[in-house]
Amino acid sequence: MKKRVLLIEDNEQNRYMMSFLLTRKGYEVVEAGDGPAGIELARRIRPALILLDIQLPGMDGYTVAGELKAIPETASIPIVAITSYAMTGDRERGIAAGCDGYMEKPIDPETFAAEIGRYLPGAGGDQGA
Ligand code: MN
Repeated sequence: MKKRVLLIEDNEQNRYMMSFLLTRKGYEVVEAGDGPAGIELARRIRPALILLDIQLPGMDGYTVAGELKAIPETASIPIVAITSYAMTGDRERGIAAGCDGYMEKPIDPETFAAEIGRYLPGAGGDQGA
C-alpha cells in the first residue's frame, strides 16, 4: 500500500514540485493550501507523514504543528517543517512546536524524496522505487 503524505504549503509551484517528486517515488500525496484545511485533512485521512510549510497565510506553520500535536488522532503523525529561508531560530521553534524534522527551501530535487523517507515510521528510505 502506498504511503500517504500530507503536504501543507500555500505556494502552488512548491506544492507541485514536491508533489511531483514524492509521487514519482511511489507516495500518495494529498495537498492543502493553508493550515486549517491541512488540519482538517490530517484528521480525516491520517497520513503517514505531514510536510508543513512554516510561512503560511493566516495560521502559521508553528501554530498548525501545535494544533496537530494537541489533537489525539493526529498527535503521533511525524511532522517535517519546511521553511523558505534560513531564519535564525526556525529549527528550534519548529521542534518546540512539535515538529519532528526540518528542511530548508529551496529543496534539492535529487535528495528530497529520500530525505522525506527517513521520517516515515518504519521506513528505511523511499518506497523501493
Ligand atoms: Mn509559504
